[in-house]
Amino acid sequence: MAAVYTAPQPSIPVFGRGSCSGRAAKGLLPPKRMGTRKKVHAFVRVRPTDDFAHEMIRYGDDNKTINIHLKRDTQRGVVNNQQTDWSFRLDGVLHDASQDLVYETVAKDVVSQALNGYNGTIMCYGQTGAGKTYTMTGATENYKHRGILPRALQQVFRMIEERPTHAITVRVSYLEIYNESLFDLLSTLPYVGPSVTPMTIVENPQGVFVKGLSVHLTSQEEDAFSLLFEGETNRIIASHTMNKNSSRSHSIFTIYVEAHSRTLSDEKYITSKINLVDLAGSERLGKSGSEGRVLKEATYINKSLSFLEQAIIALGDQKRDHIPFRQCKLTHALKDSLGGNCNMVLVTNIYGEATQLEETLSSLRFASRMKLVTTEPAINEKYDAERMVKNLEKELALLKQELAIHDSLANRTHVNYDPMDEIQIAEINSQVRRYLAGTLDEIDVINLRQIQEVFNQFRVVLSQQEQEVESSLRRKYTLIDKNDFATISAVQKRLASIQAGLVDADGHLVGEPDGQGFGFGVASLTTKAGKKVKSKKTVKEQPRLSTPPSKSVAFEDFKNERGSEINRIFKENKSILNERRKRASETTQRINAIKKEIDITKEALHFQKSLREKQGEYENKGLMIIDEEEFQLILKLKDLKKQYRTEYQDLRDLRAEIQYCQHLVEQCRHRLLTEFDVWYNESFFIPEDVQAALKPGSSIRPGMVPVSRIVSLGEDDQDKFSQLQQMMLPEGPDSISFYNAKVKTEQKHNYLKTTMGLQQARRK
Ligand code: ADP
Ligand code: MG
Repeated sequence: MAAVYTAPQPSIPVFGRGSCSGRAAKGLLPPKRMGTRKKVHAFVRVRPTDDFAHEMIRYGDDNKTINIHLKRDTQRGVVNNQQTDWSFRLDGVLHDASQDLVYETVAKDVVSQALNGYNGTIMCYGQTGAGKTYTMTGATENYKHRGILPRALQQVFRMIEERPTHAITVRVSYLEIYNESLFDLLSTLPYVGPSVTPMTIVENPQGVFVKGLSVHLTSQEEDAFSLLFEGETNRIIASHTMNKNSSRSHSIFTIYVEAHSRTLSDEKYITSKINLVDLAGSERLGKSGSEGRVLKEATYINKSLSFLEQAIIALGDQKRDHIPFRQCKLTHALKDSLGGNCNMVLVTNIYGEATQLEETLSSLRFASRMKLVTTEPAINEKYDAERMVKNLEKELALLKQELAIHDSLANRTHVNYDPMDEIQIAEINSQVRRYLAGTLDEIDVINLRQIQEVFNQFRVVLSQQEQEVESSLRRKYTLIDKNDFATISAVQKRLASIQAGLVDADGHLVGEPDGQGFGFGVASLTTKAGKKVKSKKTVKEQPRLSTPPSKSVAFEDFKNERGSEINRIFKENKSILNERRKRASETTQRINAIKKEIDITKEALHFQKSLREKQGEYENKGLMIIDEEEFQLILKLKDLKKQYRTEYQDLRDLRAEIQYCQHLVEQCRHRLLTEFDVWYNESFFIPEDVQAALKPGSSIRPGMVPVSRIVSLGEDDQDKFSQLQQMMLPEGPDSISFYNAKVKTEQKHNYLKTTMGLQQARRK
């Protein structure tokens, strides 16, 4: 039967076309999608025979379908006896096809696409003796019968010759997988030497590769052929010396292509690899009655091929997102060559004889599964880091020149775009400091680098100032670390002991043991003691007063002492506010005056007009003639209106300013009063020794007791403390409920903790 074959439509993009989009880090580009998913091509090649089973094997008219018909009587019991007919639709049936035609059909497109940056995989599958090796390698002793492998190498080198615009390198490797072990079929070459460590399969973002496998640079066809023959020879030798059955090993010949443009200074380059895979025999166990060692081998083969089948099934299932590649060395090594972004072709080699029909059926089933797999071929683009740096340097130099031109056009001399040195940075630091101190009005903008450094120096100065503030605080006060529980609890103990016996039934603080009591109750305060607490010094140094000064008196004191700064700002804002108000009222007056004048002028103008009308009008070439007086009035009116508009605008601005100032004054007033209350309580309602306990070493201030401190008190203490809080903060009901809520939450938490502890103890 003659082969009638129609080649698949090639879809080869032109080399170098396509736009460059989004660079990825580390010189790796996301593969460039062709945009469409592509089905794996599966062909069947029938081994020539004189005993072809015409009755059983028929090809469709399209030469893509192969129909199998099983005669029940001849094959009874061997295959599923319910089914006698099968039909497989593939991409082509190669019957009596020459090696030449097979190459054209199967491999040519894949190889030429590899030179465009697409990975390709060609795989031969089938039972032993069906012609896999013949298809892949061919007869090494006969040039005419050479297989896909030498032809692919030839095509690669021919295409390189046709592309002088590109520097293209070719490398090859030859791997054998036998019983889950990896062998380098090119390790016998003198410059390689046997590998010390066993080879391993490694994955990285660029793909999968075999660590330890020798990869050989080949600059011409002949070199490549000798590598191929070297590998073939090693395969045969190994099968003898190691008693390996070559039909049970898989071999993967890989051609690596890397193409850099010679003409463009483009840093992009493309890489690809073509995997040519000659699989082990697919025949099933049992037929040959394998035993012992042979059985182990056969099991392995079946296993790795069935893992391959599982991976193929998973790849063909759109719903599956996990593909079991790592189950065996074969699928792991081919991880990035099965499916994915490759162009993939399968050749299923079958016998055309009736006796082999069972295996033939199984091979065809594998082929039709393969046809369900889709791939998304994509160009492997990479970046040449060295070229990229060179290009960027060029671009940088150009941009600097451009900047220099711009600067000279803008009369900006001596602008430097190089990184700043220490002296320049120190100068900027000083500018920032002067700016902050108010001795420098502006920092001139020079360039982006300088702006960035200015911001940087702001940060430096800020952090230095923070440190200065902290150390000045430390000089004045003893700051307790919030996490220094020992010190905190010492202070708290002291506080608790002071509280004991200090609160009477009415909730008033009673006197100290020495009998020197002091009253409480803000409402009943008198002004009697006023004179005694006039100055800052008297407040601080005098002994505790039995009657505190009135609030109004104390307020005067406060404004001179702790509140002086807030008071100063308050006063300043108030005076600004008053000044603005004054200006606003002046402006209003002026506006009214102008308005009056406008009215008067309008009236006068009106009068003039009516006079003119009575006296009769003069016209000159269509223009009205008016007298001097009327003209002056018009001018005046115009001027007044302009004044009015300006003043009115001023008034509007002033009103906005007043509103803003009012807000500020309110804020200051509020702060002043709040701080005063705190100060007042501290100064007059806390016994001296409490003061002493609190003041120097702690940030605890009655009225401002941090929540964390309350939380760490014992439950009884908390009770007392919250009572004290309520006494002490007659004017702060909001804070009391806040603290109470906090204490309650804490108590609940403590309760839970205790019960949990008890439960745990009981369990033990
Ligand atoms: P496999 O690798 O599948 O075990 P081979 O490729 O070694 O099978 O083929 C077995 C034998 O059949 C070899 O001697 C080979 O030359 C021969 N053979 C296979 N296919 C063809 C073919 N299409 N034309 C000529 N001889 C073939
Ligand atoms: Mg073989």
